[in-house]
Amino acid sequence: MTSKYIGSVKFHAPYHPSTVLKLDKIEYRIDSSCGAKNENKVYLLTHFHFDHVRSCMAGGADFLSLSEDPIKIYAPYDTRKEYGETENVFDIHYKMINFHSKGRRKLVPIRENEILQFNGTSVNPILLKHTIPNFSYYISNKETSILVTGDWEGSNYKNREKIISLSPRVLITECRYFLEEEIEIAEERMHVHLEDVLELKEELEHSLIILTHVSHRYRELDDILKLTKEKDLILAKNISFNNSGYRIRERFK
Ligand SMILES: [Zn+2]
Ligand SMILES: [Zn+2]
Repeated sequence: MTSKYIGSVKFHAPYHPSTVLKLDKIEYRIDSSCGAKNENKVYLLTHFHFDHVRSCMAGGADFLSLSEDPIKIYAPYDTRKEYGETENVFDIHYKMINFHSKGRRKLVPIRENEILQFNGTSVNPILLKHTIPNFSYYISNKETSILVTGDWEGSNYKNREKIISLSPRVLITECRYFLEEEIEIAEERMHVHLEDVLELKEELEHSLIILTHVSHRYRELDDILKLTKEKDLILAKNISFNNSGYRIRERFK
């Protein structure tokens, strides 16, 4: 039986960076935990901020099946050397993840526009400016296209131009701040404000826009859920989509 929805996306929590996209029988796990059964799963890391690194390290080493090859986690080849370190950011994390997973997870370096292919789907890493290098992932096949942004500077003109030129069917974007008095802090910290998303939305008429990774300061979600709905944006735990619509399968409580 064929489903009328061609893809779905699941989140762990509204605050959490983990994004799990299911498309054409493959699960794309972006900044997301590793489990025991890893066939038909693709692991991607957007950038080396600790909330994202920690999220992809979750899942525990002990139950990772020893019969399987080590899990590959594709990650930006970030060659910066920081804080007096002699090794670069990528290598430091490669060792750390290798160590904590007892060799069961390996970071695989990828560069901007180095396209990965999985069946008929391609994954294109596209750099979006944030406080450190961040890859958004443009995941597309014959049927549809999805952009998962990671963290990005919402007020940055070039970032927006990149997203608009891709014009994905589904845009899954960080949206850290929502209130008017938070516009400045969003700019300062190179994160996304609701206003940035609304400006983008005007240019992306045919995109479904899903928000995620909101600030912990909204412990009471009711207000921002209402605001999101009013603006015709989506904030939910589990969403199915096709090229003409979507269905919310589970809401955030
Ligand atoms: Zn983050
Ligand atoms: Zn970040």
